Amino acid sequence: MPRKTVARIDTRALRHNYRLACRLASPARAMAVIKADGYGHGIREVARALASDAPKFAVACLEEALAIREAGVDHPVVLLQGMHSAGDVATCVCEGFEVVVHSGYQLDWLDQADERPTVWVKVNTGMNRLGFAPSVLADVMARLDTIGAGETVAGFVTHFACADDISRDDTDQQTRVFSEAVVDWPKLEKSASNSAAHFLPAQPSFDWTRPGIMLYGASPTLGKTGPELGLEAVMTLEAPLTAVRTLKPGESVGYGYSWTAIQETRMGIVAIGYGDGYPRHAGTDTPAWVGGNRIRLIGRVSMDMLAVDLTGAPEACPGDLVELWGRNVSVDEVAQHAGTIGYELLTGITARVPRLYEDSGNTAAG
Ligand SMILES: *Cc1c(COP(=O)(O)O)cnc(C)c1O
Repeated sequence: MPRKTVARIDTRALRHNYRLACRLASPARAMAVIKADGYGHGIREVARALASDAPKFAVACLEEALAIREAGVDHPVVLLQGMHSAGDVATCVCEGFEVVVHSGYQLDWLDQADERPTVWVKVNTGMNRLGFAPSVLADVMARLDTIGAGETVAGFVTHFACADDISRDDTDQQTRVFSEAVVDWPKLEKSASNSAAHFLPAQPSFDWTRPGIMLYGASPTLGKTGPELGLEAVMTLEAPLTAVRTLKPGESVGYGYSWTAIQETRMGIVAIGYGDGYPRHAGTDTPAWVGGNRIRLIGRVSMDMLAVDLTGAPEACPGDLVELWGRNVSVDEVAQHAGTIGYELLTGITARVPRLYEDSGNTAAG
C-alpha cells in the first residue's frame, strides 16, 4: 500500500478561479498561465481542465508548451520568455506557439528563419528584467518589418513588479509608461496584468490579462488570503497521522529538541516533510487541520515527517488524514508562517507526492 500522502487537485475549483479571473478581466480576455508544471498542479491535467474555458495558455519555455501538446490540447500557447535558441523558431511555427521577443538576439533568430511564429514584443516599463525600453520600440518594430515579421506581430506585453501591494502607485506608473510606449500601434493587442493586477481597483486590463497564481486559489495580494479574494483552493495537501503519543511536561520532540511540552500534551506525527516539499521553515504554530479541528505544528519539520499538537483534536488517531493546506487552511497562511509565498509552496511539492485529480462538481474521479 502506498503512503496516503497526496495532493488532491480539484479541477472544479480551478475552473471557478479561472472564471473569476475572466470576470475581473472583462472585457479583456485571460490567457491562463500554467508554467512550472501548472504551479505544481500538473501542467497536462491543468491544460485539459481549462481547455474548454481558456482560449489561450501561457508558459515560460518551449518544453512546457510541448507538454500542453502532449496532453492533446492544441490551443495557442504564449512562451513568456520566448525562444532560448535559434532552433526554437521552427518548432514554434510548427506547433502554433506565440513567442515573446525581449532581446535583439531573438530578432536575429527571426531574421534567419524561413517562417516566423506570432510575436509579442516585450516592453520594459520599469521592472528591468526583460524587454525593450520604450525609447527603442520604434526601431524594434521597424526591424520586424524589415525582416518580414511585421505581419506576425500580435502586440505588446509588459510585466508589473509591485501589483501585489495595493498601497503603492508603481503599477499606475508602469501602466502609464506602457500605454504611452505603444500609442503608435493602436491596432495591435496589449497585455499587462498578472493575477495581482486583477484585484487593483481602476487597473486597465487592456486586451489580454495573464492570471497565474490566482487560478490555483492562492493569493497574489499582500495581506490577503486566496479565500478572502473569492478564490478556492485547488490543491489540498494531506498526509496521515502515523503515530500519536502524550508528552509529559519537560519532554521535547524532533531534531534539536526545539519544542518542549510545558504541560501534558497529546501530539501526533504526520507522514510528510520537506522531502515532499512541505517547507522546513514552517515552525511551531503553523496551522494544519484534522477531523474538523484546527491544530498547529510543533518543533522542526523533518524530511519525511512533522509533529503536530493534538490538544485541539482529542479524537484524532493514527490513520486520520491531516490537511497541511487546502480548503480549511489556506496555503497563504502556511506561506506566511514559513516566510515565503504560496507560489513557492505550490511549485515546490516534489514528485514523491502523487497528484490525485478530482472534480468536486462531479463525483467521478479523473
Ligand atoms: C508568471 C507570469 C505571469 C503570472 O503571474 P501571477 O503572479 O502568477 O499571476 C504573468 N506574466 C508573466 C510574464 C509571468 O512570467
